[in-house]
Amino acid sequence: MSEVILKNVTKKFSTRTLGEVTAVDDFNLTIREGECFSLLGPSGCGKTTTLRMIAGFEDLSDGEIWIGDKPVSAKKRNLYVQPEDRGLGMVFQAFAVWPHLNVFENVAFPLRVRNVGRREMDSRVAEALKHTGLGGLDRTFPSDLSGGQLQRIALARAIVMNPKVLLLDEPLSNLDPKLRESMRFEIKELQRRFNFTIIYVTHDQAEAMALSDRMLVMDMGVIQQIDTPTNMYNNPANKFVYGFLGLSNFVDVNIGDGKVYPEGGSGQPFPCAIPGDFTEAAGTVASRPNEIDLTAEGGYRTVVKARIFLGDYTEYRVDVGNQEVRIQSTGDRGFMVGDSVGLDFTRVQWYSRDDGISDAERERRKVI
Ligand code: ADP
Ligand code: MG
Repeated sequence: MSEVILKNVTKKFSTRTLGEVTAVDDFNLTIREGECFSLLGPSGCGKTTTLRMIAGFEDLSDGEIWIGDKPVSAKKRNLYVQPEDRGLGMVFQAFAVWPHLNVFENVAFPLRVRNVGRREMDSRVAEALKHTGLGGLDRTFPSDLSGGQLQRIALARAIVMNPKVLLLDEPLSNLDPKLRESMRFEIKELQRRFNFTIIYVTHDQAEAMALSDRMLVMDMGVIQQIDTPTNMYNNPANKFVYGFLGLSNFVDVNIGDGKVYPEGGSGQPFPCAIPGDFTEAAGTVASRPNEIDLTAEGGYRTVVKARIFLGDYTEYRVDVGNQEVRIQSTGDRGFMVGDSVGLDFTRVQWYSRDDGISDAERERRKVI
């Protein structure tokens, strides 16, 4: 069993400048056996802290963590299993490769620490090197390797112990974009081969979506949504998640007499239906730039403010009320700056204006 379960996990840090900071706030979460699960969120939202608590490098302020059917951290019971006894492999963002050791010795290190015999060590290191694309480089020193190869050493070292769970903290962030993309596939391949449960930390939504079976979006230490990449992209739980997963237009609107009016507009109604379950008098309408069509006639009338040709698509900027909206349309429609155009919203989603974490709440969480 290699489920990872977090029950009411909270981590508070005492800081000199901000006082007590809640880095992770009451996490309840089950990461299933064999799943690739990502923790996604902006810098400082508590991803690394969560991973370090699972790994056992960080104590909990409250709650419990279970791996399989055993608790590994339980604050109230004073239970704390050492990191090396948790059956985990871990790769950090700033990967540590020892420059004075060759590839073989770098990867063999965790086995040496545990006094694994020579023959078993040789075969396990060879296996790890083969599956991370480092076969034949045993005797090479890190100074002769590329960034991608160094990262593979870190991966090989994490898998050489045959961990049940692999923890990866922004493992690709030091690589160039092309290599990052191909390494995503290599990590997926490794998972298929060895069947680990993977917990993957990233601030890059494309990476999380490409790799994950399910993912969690967090903000300010608070879970915002847990779902599959497809479900989350199609139905973000709130404005924060919507904005984090892709390009977004948010238009604040007011509702009157069953019609929708953009904030700061001149009384022209916005051509979209009000969902039956939306009962507030004001809201925010969200759309992606490729979910709006431009038309010569009809639609919400406005004027082209900017037009940028980008090859695959043309980007337009227009105002809706007093708010700017971006449109990305494939195929050039020939609208120019100053032209009158209509907007057709092919898909919109409605949110409360102040859902997610309000500014006041952000302040409160910063300094408790
Ligand atoms: P992320 O990995 O998502 O960028 P972190 O988990 O590193 O975020 O940090 C979450 C919050 O906890 C931040 O506000 C950070 O400053 C704070 N934090 C992390 N580690 C410590 C620490 N050792 N002492 C004090 N504050 C910390
Ligand atoms: Mg981090």
